[in-house]
Amino acid sequence: MALESLDARRCISYLTIEHKGHIAAEFRRAMGNRIYGCDDCLAVCPWNKYAQASREAAFHARAELTAPLLSDLAGLGDAAFRELFRRSPVKRTGRDRFVRNVLIALGNSGDPKAAPAAENLLFWETRFMQAMVSTVNVSRGRYDSIFIAGLRWRSG
Ligand code: SF4
Repeated sequence: MALESLDARRCISYLTIEHKGHIAAEFRRAMGNRIYGCDDCLAVCPWNKYAQASREAAFHARAELTAPLLSDLAGLGDAAFRELFRRSPVKRTGRDRFVRNVLIALGNSGDPKAAPAAENLLFWETRFMQAMVSTVNVSRGRYDSIFIAGLRWRSG
């Protein structure tokens, strides 16, 4: 890859929204707590300081989604995911990929309360996802992926 060029395959927005399958370990730390998109490039774009907040209600954040707990999001089943993200672009990503992202954010959180939420998924819905259940050695504040066995999607 040439200098001054951008490899879109490494973009957090691409990885969290478009990328199917598990996310390579080298990208996980940089994802931080981004579970759907990134858009830091929009935040630093000098033109965006002229942007105005929209008065269109459909563009406003819904109260229940302004600061959700990662541990709650990790526990979303398919029906609950669909309901929570009804009429939201997040729905397009699908529950399995979304929970994959949440698990990485939990891993990055270093929060001791994160481990049970991740570990619950080790035994959960294996028909849909035998998955990217990442957990954290939170006591040492260290992220470890304990299991990446590939994804078994609904068709599998
Ligand atoms: S800053 Fe922009 S290009 Fe970089 S990872 Fe985030 S969304 Fe992708």
